[in-house]
Amino acid sequence: MMKLKKFARYLFIGIFCFLPALSLYARSVKVPSYYYYKYHSSDTSETSALYYEDIFKLLTEGSSLDFQTVPCLDSQSAQAMLESGDLDLAYDFEYSADLVEQGYYFSEIPCLTNHVFLIAKNSSNVYNAAFLSNLNASRIGYDEKESYMKDILVKFKEDHNIDFNIVATDYSKGFSSAMLRDSLELCLVSLPVPEISEKVVYSFGIQKFYFVSKSASLIQQIDAFLKERFTEDPLFLSRMVGSGKKNAFLLENINEVQLDYIKKHSPVHVYNDDRFFELTDKIDVKKEFWNTISGFTGFDFIMENRAALTISSSLPCIYEIAEIQKLSPYVNRASYTDAFYSMNVRFICAPGRSVDDFLMHLQYKEKKHRALPRIAITSEMFKVLPYFKEKFIAFDYVIYANIDQCLLSVSKSECDATLVNDIYLQQRYKIDDYRKLRNQNVVLMEVPICVAVNLENPEIMVSILNRAFAQTPYNYYNKLFEAQGIYVQSKPSKEKLWNYFFTAFALSILVLFFYTIVIMIHQTKILQKQINTDSLTGLLSLDGFENEAKKLLHFNRTYKFLLTEINIRDFSFVNRIYGPEKGDKILISLAKLLKQFFSYRSNTLIGHGYADNFYVFQKVESCEGDILEGMSSYLTLIQEMIDKLENLHVVLKSGNVVAFGENDLHVLISRASYARRYNHDSLLENFSIFDDKLKSMRENEEFIESNIERAIKNNEFVVLFQPKVNLESEKICGAEALVRWKTESGLIPPDLFIPVLEKNGLVGKLDQYVYKCVFRYLSQLQEEGLNLVPVSMNISRLNYNTKLFINNLNTLIYSCNIPKKYIELEIEERFAGANDDFIKDFVESLHKEDFKVSMDDFGAGSSSLNMLSEIPVDIVKFDQRFLHYAEISKSSRIILKSTIQMVKDLGMVTVCEGIETKEQADFLRSVGCSIAQGYYYSKPLDEEDFKAFLINHQ
Ligand code: C2E
Ligand code: MG
Ligand code: MG
Repeated sequence: MMKLKKFARYLFIGIFCFLPALSLYARSVKVPSYYYYKYHSSDTSETSALYYEDIFKLLTEGSSLDFQTVPCLDSQSAQAMLESGDLDLAYDFEYSADLVEQGYYFSEIPCLTNHVFLIAKNSSNVYNAAFLSNLNASRIGYDEKESYMKDILVKFKEDHNIDFNIVATDYSKGFSSAMLRDSLELCLVSLPVPEISEKVVYSFGIQKFYFVSKSASLIQQIDAFLKERFTEDPLFLSRMVGSGKKNAFLLENINEVQLDYIKKHSPVHVYNDDRFFELTDKIDVKKEFWNTISGFTGFDFIMENRAALTISSSLPCIYEIAEIQKLSPYVNRASYTDAFYSMNVRFICAPGRSVDDFLMHLQYKEKKHRALPRIAITSEMFKVLPYFKEKFIAFDYVIYANIDQCLLSVSKSECDATLVNDIYLQQRYKIDDYRKLRNQNVVLMEVPICVAVNLENPEIMVSILNRAFAQTPYNYYNKLFEAQGIYVQSKPSKEKLWNYFFTAFALSILVLFFYTIVIMIHQTKILQKQINTDSLTGLLSLDGFENEAKKLLHFNRTYKFLLTEINIRDFSFVNRIYGPEKGDKILISLAKLLKQFFSYRSNTLIGHGYADNFYVFQKVESCEGDILEGMSSYLTLIQEMIDKLENLHVVLKSGNVVAFGENDLHVLISRASYARRYNHDSLLENFSIFDDKLKSMRENEEFIESNIERAIKNNEFVVLFQPKVNLESEKICGAEALVRWKTESGLIPPDLFIPVLEKNGLVGKLDQYVYKCVFRYLSQLQEEGLNLVPVSMNISRLNYNTKLFINNLNTLIYSCNIPKKYIELEIEERFAGANDDFIKDFVESLHKEDFKVSMDDFGAGSSSLNMLSEIPVDIVKFDQRFLHYAEISKSSRIILKSTIQMVKDLGMVTVCEGIETKEQADFLRSVGCSIAQGYYYSKPLDEEDFKAFLINHQ
């Protein structure tokens, strides 16, 4: 039992002693030893490697952490090693939100900050912050030992979209020699700031550095340790800087009293008088400056924007002010440091005033009763006012929002003079714009600026600050100020803001408006181009053709133009038989050929209209006859070429019109079209011209087209009756009703207006009208006791509704009480283009209603004799042409004779139309024709004359 107790005790002691060792092992943190720090000798000052060494030493000594170094190339590979667990902690990292997102933790490395500047030779005017694009193609060097500087340049390149060359260089012999050696235009440098011979082109502000780890607890431990050290020892940072930079200046001179003072008074309020100050970035400049001072003093500074007058309040603070010899009434309880920079102030007098008027030692010049002079200032000038109070006669000041307003007030003599910051005046304002001030008395004053201290025991603070100022590089503040002054933004007044807002608003509306218009114009142009171009052939579309032709006509009023409409005969047939693809191919070939023949000519347009209609419009520059002749032969040639190309015979029909002084393109196209249609059916003529003959025909048609509807409504038609005579007895045996349009200029024959009525569908109405007239007339004759003869009436080709047609006919007949045997209906051989079955049915329906039917114009069309056996008509009316051919050819006579015989054999009555001579009548009689109708016997007669004829020829 005892043994067991002993064992337990030893075990307990063993574990107790072993655990710390275990935990010690566990605490060994793997940190990188960067490759680029390897060559730093320990006595080289200002290397961060030494600084890190110090920090790790501090951490090892003061915290429970232990470090183990692992060789590493750079911070990039450090990140990979952190990821893989080969490292626990890395340094030389900038803060990155991306890394935080990836689960990295950051701890700020105390005081390891850098003010980074881009510098150039002071003599170079090419490079400045306002024109960063000038950096393109330049060579910018960075310290090869500081890899983070390269990162800054790479980021800068990306952020500003500039393309310069980044050169790793050796700064050990200074920037100037590095620039010379590596032919650099610029250098990226960190504190200390450059000397007079270099100028700051761009300030990157403060760069802070961080420890990075994937372990939150490790970062927490480091943070806690650093915080504790800082609280214990406010000079902790200064010590770090001092030891890191091997600059023990501050440490060597610090005494216990000062150390206590820093502990007690930190943080210190730093006051600015920038309430109205227009340059917002200036705050950052100051922050940067006080940050630097903080590193040299151990104080924390809190920036506050307050008016200058508050310095006199009991608030403990320090305040920038012009260095003055005596206590100013504004800062009466303050003590002052040495001047740490000087502000260049320009004193500009109003017209009629000179600097002498304001100087104290020349005060006698000023009349006693005169009001105090007014000096225009921005609020920033508060800090230099005491300086002027010392040197100037008593004055009033007026605060303006910005330098512009100060200058304006002086140029208008609202104020007697102004005090303005010369850097801003030079960089942002142009005194040249204030013409009145250009020749004014101006003096430039360098006002030393120091810090007024309003703390308890200000002397201690003053001595600490003085020491820190001595440590900041020469002219540091001025350089900083200048660098940022280049691109400071103005902080406009409210009124100005509204003005900006409205101007911006109005401008954006305007821009939007113009943008919309530009887009609309652009789109309209695209649309117009689409509308103007024919998608199939690439020629002008009809719209495009019309538009372009109108322009041509407009600019060439004294010239003649030839418009040609070209059409492929029976193109619908081509489409039907060979398919639409072949049809399209033919159209494309035709378009190509037209282009080949005509597009090289100036003042010539080629267009493609509906279906197979093409148009050529050309200026007649030579003889009209020649151009027409040329056109005709070109078209013949084109037709032959299409035949060859497409291996298909096509016939090109064209209509041509010569225009002179006529600029209505629609009229021209319709005329060319009319001319083309005029010879459409002709197999011989393909080229027709809209001449005077066609013109009057066209005019007639136009008259008919526009008046026919009214004429039907107004019953402007009369019916004539042409007698039919029995060839044997030469007595009247019938008549044909023929319609005429009675106009003021005479009777218009049906050939002219019936096609129009057929086109507009009114021909049926006309038929009804004629039938009514015929029945009314027949019933009148019947009532008069005359012996009636059958009267034949023409049926319009468009009567499709057989039932309705017959019903209407019956109604009319019954109302007039005419026996149906006196009614005969003429159908045309090419009846509405209908097929034989339809005609057959139609005829049979008429037969059922006891109407007689005759076949009109037999032999004029292409129907065969066979048709007569199919369609059971009662009468066949031979066309006039039959007779005409019979007169001139023997064979035609034989054909007519045998046809008449055959028709008779079929049981049909034979009628011949257009008998004009006795010979014709005799011939017809000799070949057995029964009835004749023609001028030889009688022309179509009006009612009265027909009645007489009827009476006389019975
Ligand atoms: P159509 O039915 O063949 O009428 C015969 C045409 O020959 C008539 O012409 C007539 O005047 C003409 N004619 C008669 N004898 C001679 C002659 O000896 N020599 C010459 N050169 N011509 C002669 P019109 O009256 O001008 O009628 C022309 C066509 O108009 C008619 O041909 C007919 O198709 C149509 N038409 C006439 N009236 C009507 C109608 O009321 N309704 C319909 N739908 N068509 C009608
Ligand atoms: Mg007829
Ligand atoms: Mg006829």
